[in-house]
Amino acid sequence: VTRPLAEVVGAELVTPLVGGGSTRYVNLDYAASAPALSEVATHLTEVLPFYASVHRGAGYASQVSTSVYENARTIVREFVGGRPDDEVVFTRNTTDSLNLLAGCLPAAGEVLYLDIEHHANLLPWQGRPHRSVVAARTLAETLERVRAWLKAGEISLVAVTGASNITGEILPIAELAALAHEHGARIVVDAAQLAPHRRIDIEAADIDYLAFSGHKLYAPFGAGALVGRRDWLDNGRPYLAGGGAVREVRLDSVAWAEGPARHEAGSPNVLGAATLAKAAQVLASLDTDSWYAHEQQLRDALVAGLRQIDGVTVHNLFEDSALGVSAASRGAVGIVNFSVEGHDAGLTAAYLSAEHGVGLRDGRFCAHPALRRLGLASGSLRASFGLGSRLEDVERLVTGVRELVDRGLGLDYTVDAGRWVP
Ligand code: PMP
Repeated sequence: VTRPLAEVVGAELVTPLVGGGSTRYVNLDYAASAPALSEVATHLTEVLPFYASVHRGAGYASQVSTSVYENARTIVREFVGGRPDDEVVFTRNTTDSLNLLAGCLPAAGEVLYLDIEHHANLLPWQGRPHRSVVAARTLAETLERVRAWLKAGEISLVAVTGASNITGEILPIAELAALAHEHGARIVVDAAQLAPHRRIDIEAADIDYLAFSGHKLYAPFGAGALVGRRDWLDNGRPYLAGGGAVREVRLDSVAWAEGPARHEAGSPNVLGAATLAKAAQVLASLDTDSWYAHEQQLRDALVAGLRQIDGVTVHNLFEDSALGVSAASRGAVGIVNFSVEGHDAGLTAAYLSAEHGVGLRDGRFCAHPALRRLGLASGSLRASFGLGSRLEDVERLVTGVRELVDRGLGLDYTVDAGRWVP
């Protein structure tokens, strides 16, 4: 099935402007959270009136909820190309998924991760024996550094992002998976940024574990998933202790369940799972050529527009990301990172919001080590696109940045209680 992208997009917002009046809100912060697609919002209202206890009731509503929940598991597995025996654990988000996996690692071995990772794919491993690799300026050289560590160390898991939340650049996950397996390690991919922008096939890419978040995938907050090989998950420490995660409980002992139930104690988030699955179905229905081309066009237009403005620098992690190390790992998702010389990132973002109705992200993007290495310890700006983005959004941002530079406001402005004060 191929569908026009505009058909699946949800509601739009209108934002007030500081000088008076209002305008269509230009959301350039999809990488933080993506607003629900229209069918996802509709599905939420369909499930909301009758949802009931999952797995625990004989009544009809419980049966329906249980089947909605378990069906969502199957949809999510298929969405990422999971193997039939892969486990799908519903979590709260990517952070939760990676922390869960960290509790299931085998006793021996170390975790290897790059210094470009989001804190969610870095801090859970810090509590375990680990090695970190400083990424090189090229993907090819970065792969060589990973290879060297895999050879030298006793690595049990390589943890890597699928696409950088800082710059959108795509990592060669299939190549990294092959490298890891060659040296007896497994790989987990943080797909928080990749899953909303590219079709993923974990079986074809030979990925062992994949983590992602519903709220970045055009579904509501509160549900994410960890998909992957069941042996570690079935033998790992149950993520939460409580009802539903057990086979038998005695007063001072327990036999834990296997399967996803082991890590899903407590009443599960059936609405979250149902809407996450609906979003996955909508994304799976898109024509990838027009989907990817739409984002690429916006990204190229923004990079070109920003580069024409004096004092604006667009940041990349890798010099060869346009080439990649294989066709599948080439390029970037719809994220552009930049800074404006002499202008504080936070104040620039506030200015663009107040005067131009553009919402983007500033700061260090929960990736302090990478920003420090890039010389951006005081933060930069990130514009990110999604299905509802338009070329006029790019124009609005570029116009706003140019105006800021032309006005030469420097650091001579401020934001007071969320209000822009020229
Ligand atoms: N990894 C990456 C690459 C991300 O971009 C994010 C969200 N910014 C996360 C992990 C964490 O996602 P969540 O907040 O949904 O747990």
